[in-house]
Amino acid sequence: MSPPEYPGATLKSNVHRRKAWFDRGARALKSVAAVDGEIYACPICFRGFSSDALGQGLLTEDHVPPESLGGRPLVLSCRECNNRAGHAFESHMEKLDARLAFNRGQPRRPVRMKLRAWESTLRVMARGDDKTLTIDLGERGNNPADRDAHLKHLDEASRFPLRKFEFQMSFDDQLDMGAARKGWLRSAYLVAFAAFGYHYAIHPQVRRLVESLQESGFRADNYVFLDGEASLPANQILILKDPTWLEGHISISFGRCAIMLPGRRTPDPTFEQGLARLRDNSETAIHGRIIKWPRGLELRLDLPD
Ligand SMILES: [Zn+2]
Repeated sequence: MSPPEYPGATLKSNVHRRKAWFDRGARALKSVAAVDGEIYACPICFRGFSSDALGQGLLTEDHVPPESLGGRPLVLSCRECNNRAGHAFESHMEKLDARLAFNRGQPRRPVRMKLRAWESTLRVMARGDDKTLTIDLGERGNNPADRDAHLKHLDEASRFPLRKFEFQMSFDDQLDMGAARKGWLRSAYLVAFAAFGYHYAIHPQVRRLVESLQESGFRADNYVFLDGEASLPANQILILKDPTWLEGHISISFGRCAIMLPGRRTPDPTFEQGLARLRDNSETAIHGRIIKWPRGLELRLDLPD
């Protein structure tokens, strides 16, 4: 993308947007809690901030999904929560995205892989599209003798194209799938917060889920469905009708994955059971009412138009 023509003007409009979101959030917070003065609560940790926090950089624009995955600013969150997610989740979300793109045959970023053939293993970079697989053997960290032996074998293989030649490839990107899934769960929650607001966020089941993102023992597997496990639309919010055992709950799809979030009913023990059932029955069709994807901090339940 080319840089903006008037960077000064862009900077100014970002400042304006942050202030507008702060004011909107502060007004929305009053609809759910008794607060003195103008306070915005971070949707992740729920700590309150005055508008001075904007100028001090303590309240920041949170990109959903992360900027490196094409996300846009959607909410304000505190710098601490924003940075923590960056460190804990973002690189794993990028690695998962590269894998999913590779598996679909869509070249995006090259992925780090291990190539095993002729009884030795090489670290390689691979890039695939629907017709070709390009493997770069020049990766550092390989024993030069191994690499030369592989090249010699490959050269022979290319001269005898009818001879059978087998190799195995596996991902070598140190992806922490649990961290990637937690990152997607966090992004989905922020979409729901941007759309619905504090009335949604203070729901005990939702709070518990957001708090558990910080717990190392928490597993987000049942909440996050990856591309390949289901066919997924881009940027879609659904309030579920079918299956009936998940009725009223929320599905948020980002194209490459979809996330299930609790609805806004009273605490519902069957939600977790419903997710487990959905995981066991991957053919289950999901239907519901489509809700408009938020363009920014809309907080619709707190601030009805
Ligand atoms: Zn926070």
